[in-house]
Amino acid sequence: MKVFENFEVWFVTGSQHLYGPETLKQVAANAQTVASVLNEAAVMPVNIVFKQVLTTPDEITNYFIAANASEKCIGIITWCHTFSPSKMWINGLKISQKPILHLHTQFNRDLPWADIDMDFMNLNQAAHGDREHGFIMSRMRLNRKVVVGHWQDEEVISQIAYWTRAAMGWYEIQHLKVARFGDNMRQVAVTEGDKVAAQIQFGLSVNGYGVGDLVELVNAVSDAEIDNLVKDYEKQYDFADNIKKGQPLHEHVRYQARIEIALRSFLEKGGFGAFTTTFEDLHGLKQLPGLASQRLMADGYGFGAEGDWKHAALVRVLKVMGKGLQGGCSFMEDYTYHLHPSGMKVLGAHMLEICPSISDGKVKLEVHPLGIGGKADPARLVFNVPAGEALNASLIDLGNRFRMVVNTVTCVTPDADLPKLPVARALWVPHPDLKTGAAAWIYAGGAHHTAFTQAIPAQCIEDFCQMAGIEFLLIDKQTNLTHFQNELRWNDLYYHLANALKNL
Ligand code: MN
Repeated sequence: MKVFENFEVWFVTGSQHLYGPETLKQVAANAQTVASVLNEAAVMPVNIVFKQVLTTPDEITNYFIAANASEKCIGIITWCHTFSPSKMWINGLKISQKPILHLHTQFNRDLPWADIDMDFMNLNQAAHGDREHGFIMSRMRLNRKVVVGHWQDEEVISQIAYWTRAAMGWYEIQHLKVARFGDNMRQVAVTEGDKVAAQIQFGLSVNGYGVGDLVELVNAVSDAEIDNLVKDYEKQYDFADNIKKGQPLHEHVRYQARIEIALRSFLEKGGFGAFTTTFEDLHGLKQLPGLASQRLMADGYGFGAEGDWKHAALVRVLKVMGKGLQGGCSFMEDYTYHLHPSGMKVLGAHMLEICPSISDGKVKLEVHPLGIGGKADPARLVFNVPAGEALNASLIDLGNRFRMVVNTVTCVTPDADLPKLPVARALWVPHPDLKTGAAAWIYAGGAHHTAFTQAIPAQCIEDFCQMAGIEFLLIDKQTNLTHFQNELRWNDLYYHLANALKNL
């Protein structure tokens, strides 16, 4: 069963009538084979569907009309097995609303050295046919992904699979609704942004609700519902001794269960995929939603603290992209540093709200004071994050555009136990190293909040940004600060001019 069983990527091959019906029949059969091998690959999360060989301008235009109208189609893979004159594609490409991946492959992997003749040459023309195809998309300034290599090559199949995951993320954000309880944390800049611009760019809608709307539901939750949910907690988590049934702090766990039940029903009823809270607006709630937010994230909801709707949306989108893969995804914050010269690292955490999908499996439920917000001590899950590769992604609003910043990181195990730290935590070394990575991040204006994922590579987010038409900046093992700062300057100019370039 596919991870995204209800979604399709349409596979299409361009050609023309110059070569006669026999060649076109062969082209169709070969394209069918390529599409079905991609479809059957274990890593492919969506259905790859071969539709037809396109040979005329009308066929091509009608194909894109059908793709636009299809609810199931989340992207199109194009390939020119033979030469397909690209003026035929202009009207179709002009109206295309689905992400495009241009697969530059050839049916026959190897040259048949002893037997190669003009029939072989006429059938295997992607080497030049795909260049004509590439020209028209460059001429029209179309965003697309180019993947090069033989269609049975594992790396090619993997690149395509990750691109389809990015396309699922793009589909998700266009339909995403974010519920925002309260507004922004007062005076904070980076969590603000233009929600109208975001809806125009991404399709997502972000709407505010008074926390009183939630409080009403919280107060209406029955004791029986809470009893049931707390039984689930007892099965899943290791309870600290002072919060077990019969202990005075047990009531604090029950209160988070009350919030979880109310919040879940609010989100389900409104069709929301993500939500934000803020500790500055909890009027009528006894605790900041801690455990409740953690558990909703673990079930796939996006979350942003302090009104951070951009990262709430991003957590949701990255969770969708990584569905079915190993590793989790969480809201995250660069919290504090270990700057010892022998091994600098970041301790990532939040006041409470880190998703247990990224844990090392040992999750403890605890109750501690919060220190800010003036509310009762909230229950929260406390855990470590296992060693391994991960990344932090941040989406910011620069006024004239949205910028995505990604920093790849290596998570490491703590040097020692952290017995007094009352929150879930991740320790990582940013690439290429803490000094360079943090400097690049700060030059780029990346937020202190991020979406942290162990499940997908940076490539997936780069593909997503290409589909969304936004800026993508990567800080990884190759990052050089001089080049990175130049990239920032050039991008400023590019995005200033980009809309004008579209109309050339
Ligand atoms: Mn925060």
